[in-house]
Amino acid sequence: MLTPITGRSAIVTGGTKGIGKGIARVLARAGANVLITGRNEEDARRVVSELTALGGGSAAYVLGDVASRRDCEAMAQAAIDAHGGIDILCANAGIFPDAKIASMSEADMDLVLDTNVKGTLLSVQACLPALTASGHGRVILTSSITGPITGFPGWSHYGASKAAQLGFMRTAAVELAPLGITVNAVLPGNIATEGLADLGPEYRAAMEASIPQRRLGEVEDIGNACLFFASDEAAYVTGQALAVDGGQVLPESLAALEAMG
Ligand code: NAP
Repeated sequence: MLTPITGRSAIVTGGTKGIGKGIARVLARAGANVLITGRNEEDARRVVSELTALGGGSAAYVLGDVASRRDCEAMAQAAIDAHGGIDILCANAGIFPDAKIASMSEADMDLVLDTNVKGTLLSVQACLPALTASGHGRVILTSSITGPITGFPGWSHYGASKAAQLGFMRTAAVELAPLGITVNAVLPGNIATEGLADLGPEYRAAMEASIPQRRLGEVEDIGNACLFFASDEAAYVTGQALAVDGGQVLPESLAALEAMG
């Protein structure tokens, strides 16, 4: 049993759907007051109602673009106004458009790096004073297995951005340690989100066949890893990357998967 995080103030960027929504749900169930962010107000309102219905802490939202310093500062202020400070920042918002190297434009690359890498820096910077004041600040990044460990055609820019988050994390963990802040990352494998349904049952079956546990991850699988990093019990863990992928990165060849039967 982890010590409950009742009353802690958490921000989950990109909490309006997908993995971020799952993280927000797990933290709210554990008693945290959660502020979610995103750009779609209808989604944000819906998630806040769902979180409130869980009966844990309070839930709120603020709209904004993580690639904008002003929006990130407004996000931090909204969490302070709603929940009295910031103890936990889950920098989760991210995009994964695909583009092959031969035809990738500078704009394609800039958008992915601005959102996934610059967005991480700006989110952390905006929350830094409040995380420091909390005395036990936690920063948890949503990276990916793609980039730090694996590759996938069409995702060279995305993979670069997810690996960059880990480079950021290691120096941030060192710089922020004297402030009592830990910085860690979760590396999701293939996670079942709302967007997956659009890709069809054949895509899902193919992905499941490549995972030793033979199932896609649930958003709560990622939320549970974030809850551990957010807990008092993880106080001495910093600068670490945790793959949560059902063993997806492990088989050394197709033969290894086939040999499982
Ligand atoms: P998703 O369902 O598309 O959700 C993305 C979230 O990020 C939404 O809440 C979206 O909000 C928000 N967002 C996107 N761009 C934003 C911006 N510029 N400013 C503010 N918010 C923004 O994606 P997901 O699959 O949950 O992915 C979440 C994170 O997990 C990403 O960092 C992704 O790289 C990582 N990841 C996902 C998987 C997977 O299998 N799903 C695997 C590995 C890693 P709005 O739509 O309201 O703007």
